Order: sequence, then structure tokens, then C-alpha cells
Amino acid sequence: MTTDPVQLTADFDEVRDITVIGAGPVGMCTAFWAGMREASARVIDSLPELGGQLAALYPEKWIFDVPGHPRVLAKDLVELLRVQALEQFDVPAHLHTTAHTISWEGSGDERVVVLHTDRGELRSRAVVVAGGHGAFEPKKLPGYDMTPWEGRGAHYLVGSKAALAGKRVLIVGGGDSACDWAINLLDTASEIRLVHRREGFRAHELTVGQVLEAADRGDVALHVPFQIKEVHGNGGVERVVLHHSEDE
Ligand SMILES: Cc1cc2nc3c(=O)[nH]c(=O)nc-3n(C[C@H](O)[C@H](O)[C@H](O)COP(=O)(O)OP(=O)(O)OC[C@H]3O[C@@H](n4cnc5c(N)ncnc54)[C@H](O)[C@@H]3O)c2cc1C
Repeated sequence: MTTDPVQLTADFDEVRDITVIGAGPVGMCTAFWAGMREASARVIDSLPELGGQLAALYPEKWIFDVPGHPRVLAKDLVELLRVQALEQFDVPAHLHTTAHTISWEGSGDERVVVLHTDRGELRSRAVVVAGGHGAFEPKKLPGYDMTPWEGRGAHYLVGSKAALAGKRVLIVGGGDSACDWAINLLDTASEIRLVHRREGFRAHELTVGQVLEAADRGDVALHVPFQIKEVHGNGGVERVVLHHSEDE
């Protein structure tokens, strides 16, 4: 794998077999299978680092559903994929590079795809789009505007568990992300409350079971079906008032 600027610049003059848009797990697996078929590949990603959502949104969360790994930290899985796919097959990784449009050049066996990026044109015989959901945007809370508290105690992702060490953490949501973090922060936060506006969680059954067990032990306080009514604090989030969902 190269991220060396000189070699990456030279790659703009190369015609590779495959250009992979997206260096998340799917993009890196695509590059791996290209290597197994002795096809030359490159990956590009608009983010400054490899790993897609794993690196950008939850580097320190345990992942339990990768075959062969009883559990693996997201950032460690990214590194394993990097070694397995990009380093093993010497795949150039163009980071900080966003794909915009595609056009075609030449004809017959000489026909190539031209990928137009914000850093120039990349040519290959095929392009694989592994862009996930595209650019990451936080899913804002319905019903309560947390914008004034962003950067002052309101987070949409956990980049570093250490930032929440010893803190009282209130998680809002009822899906995989909320339930995963309720479990993953048990060894970090001093107190965990999980607030969900509907009855029933939509996460994997196993994780929901772990959340309910943690609640039975008194390690997680559940507030269901509740929603945020008010947030108070002097400079940062200190106190949150909830209301029952039926009292909207
Ligand atoms: C908090 C959280 C926890 C999760 N936990 C788990 C879990 O435990 N187990 C599990 O199996 N799944 C989990 N997931 C889901 C998992 O992360 C996704 O299914 C996975 O990341 C999808 O991989 P991907 O490579 O398709 O897309 P992504 O990881 O989204 O990567 C796509 C990449 O494409 C890039 N890209 C998009 N458009 C362009 C463009 N035009 N130009 C250049 N680059 C572009 C993006 O920058 C991104 O890096 C979790 C998700 C979240 C948010």
C-alpha cells in the first residue's frame, strides 16, 4: 500500500484494472479480492483515514460479528484489513480524495473509465462503488434541538472512550448504536442512562438482552418511552429533563 504523495501522483498516469470508491470495510475487501485475482486496484476516499464508519464513527467500539474474531476493536479491524488488502497487494490509497463524476474514454479493448475527483482524473477498466451511505452526517434528535449543546457535552459519535471516562452518560436512541454504546461504555462511564422514545429496542436481540441484563443489575438505567424535554447547564450539559412520550 502506498500513501506516498510522489507515488500517488504517479498513479494518476496509470490505468489500473479497478478503482474502488470508498476505503471502508467493503472497499478494502474489494481491493483484497482484486489482489487475489491479480487485478491491479486503487482505493480512494474523501476521508483523511482508512476504515469508513469504523474509523470515523466508532474506532474504540468492540465488533462481535466478524467471523473468526470473537471480538475485535473497530480500529484494529481497520488495521487488519489494511495489512490484508492494501499492504499485501500494494494498493495505492488516495485519501482526502472525493469522486465526483465518471466518463468513458477510448473504445473496444482500449476503453477505460475516467473517474473525475477533486484531485484529478483516475483511469481504470472498472470502477466499484463502495461508498456506504456517502458523507457521514449526524442523525439529529427529532423533537429537540441539541445544536446549542454540540461540542458542549452533546456528541453524535464516540471517537475516544477516554473522553467519557468517569462521566454520567445519557444515551438517546433505541437502535444498534445506542445499545452497543450502553454496553461498551460500562467500563468507562460512571453512570449510564438509556433514553428511548418508543417501547422496544431495534438492536440485535443479543445486544438488547445484554442491555436488559445490565438494567437488571442496576448498571444501566432505562427511560422508555421517554424523550428529552429540556437540557440545562452552565457552559456544558449538566442536567436533562425528560418527558413521557405520551405527554407530547
Ligand atoms: C455506531 C455504529 C456502530 C456499528 N457497529 C457495527 C457492528 O458492530 N457490526 C457491524 O457489522 N456493523 C456495524 N455498523 C455498521 C457498519 O459500520 C457499516 O455497515 C459499514 O461501515 C459499511 O461499510 P462500507 O465499506 O460499505 O461503508 P462505509 O464504512 O460507510 O465506508 C464508505 C466510505 O466511502 C467513502 N465515500 C463515500 N462517497 C465517496 C466519494 N464520492 N468519494 C470518495 N469517498 C467516498 C466514505 O468517506 C467512507 O469512508 C455500525 C455502524 C455505526 C454507525
